[in-house]
Amino acid sequence: MGGVSVIVVGAGIVGLSVAYEALQAGAAVTLVDRDPEGDKASLGNAGGIAVTEVIPASVPGLWKKVPFWMLDPLGPLAIRVEHAPHLLPWLWRFARAGSTSEVVRISAALAQLNGRVYDDLLPLFNKVGLAGDLFRKGALTVYESERGLISDKREWDAKRALGIEVQELSAPQVRDMEPSLGPIVKGGIFTPQWSHVSDPKKVVDVLRDWLAANGAKISKGEVSRVDPATDGVRITLDSGRILSATKVVIAAGVWSARLAERLGDRILLESERGYNTTIVSPGIALEREVIFAERKFVATPLSIGLRIGGAAEFGGLTSVPNFKRSKALVKLAKLYLPGLKEEGGQEWSGHRAATPDSLPVIGRSGPSRHIIYAFGHGHLGLTQGPTTGKMVGDLLFEREPHLDVRPFSAARFSQKWVPP
Ligand SMILES: Cc1cc2nc3c(=O)[nH]c(=O)nc-3n(C[C@H](O)[C@H](O)[C@H](O)COP(=O)(O)OP(=O)(O)OC[C@H]3O[C@@H](n4cnc5c(N)ncnc54)[C@H](O)[C@@H]3O)c2cc1C
Repeated sequence: MGGVSVIVVGAGIVGLSVAYEALQAGAAVTLVDRDPEGDKASLGNAGGIAVTEVIPASVPGLWKKVPFWMLDPLGPLAIRVEHAPHLLPWLWRFARAGSTSEVVRISAALAQLNGRVYDDLLPLFNKVGLAGDLFRKGALTVYESERGLISDKREWDAKRALGIEVQELSAPQVRDMEPSLGPIVKGGIFTPQWSHVSDPKKVVDVLRDWLAANGAKISKGEVSRVDPATDGVRITLDSGRILSATKVVIAAGVWSARLAERLGDRILLESERGYNTTIVSPGIALEREVIFAERKFVATPLSIGLRIGGAAEFGGLTSVPNFKRSKALVKLAKLYLPGLKEEGGQEWSGHRAATPDSLPVIGRSGPSRHIIYAFGHGHLGLTQGPTTGKMVGDLLFEREPHLDVRPFSAARFSQKWVPP
């Protein structure tokens, strides 16, 4: 792609995957990040390649469960009181995304996107030297009550209808697969298409090093503006430095909405803070990722220890983490994994970039076809990173699209919310 220069803002898994794609296409690539190697969602996530997650967060009937979850101050969902007024437009849109027809539309778009994940992820992992860091062992969703399984039945049926393999297991079958699980587990679902990585930080570090070794320039700086220019796109850094390129991709995770807003595009994007604890010597072993259905958390056997995490806390980007949540999740894990040793855990928290309809934003900006958005992947950025890279590559280089990008357009948020 002689003569095309691409600047990617953000060196998380999404920005790195976009940079990989642009480099493969022969463009001159610069990655700009305020802290290229620093902490971010892409480093501390649960490490799941969660291709089976094709149902949006907002579904019919969810509102019956929400008050119950929120009763527990350390439960799976929390909204910080001081942030609640800012959240109203997002919540309004979230509620609308939960209608039956919207869920059908959104699930089909997610299934289409996740259906491509291994086609895009495997070649990337193989090329950069991560082939041995992907474990295709499926995931086990476990239930502590028959009622829990029955209440999720409709969701599992919907997944099956979208091509997801779903195998129902009895309690002894579950314990055969994962002997560390205790008697609290009454049954489960095995989803063989799921996989997990050795360590998400390793994935990001190896990919970034590969990009640098193969010609991408990695620049440190905080981007304050991205603007269309006559000959392409201009980027202004906080330091006052100006960078120019033929095309720019905004892949700055949850911080992307601010840059889009300065361009004139309104995006409904919120920080959904998650928490976890990584225990180096947990005293038990899991073969695969385990999802604890009723309590809404997961445990992943990473190469660096057992990572136990979850929670969805809406408190804005500047909120201070409440690590009592990490501790509460470890306590819950002990109920399921009686042999778990809790000592020496490393606590972490990070911002998921959540859209109200659970679909990422992948597409051209309103003001310029040369500025492309790639953010808002919520719970699935590690999973969808390489496929997002491919889709953005199609837009950058005007190729025949791999997927229909219309469901992911930023324009879906252009309608302003008016309080009822
Ligand atoms: C607890 C938790 C568990 C998760 N588990 C999973 C999982 O199992 N599977 C899965 O697929 N996903 C999971 N996710 C989601 C996944 O981690 C994210 O969707 C993904 O990491 C987002 O990647 P990103 O590149 O968009 O953003 P980020 O990783 O947030 O990176 C954004 C980058 O942009 C940079 N940046 C921001 N603003 C600017 C600016 N103005 N100028 C310069 N640089 C800027 C930041 O410094 C940062 O490096 C989880 C997330 C959390 C929090």
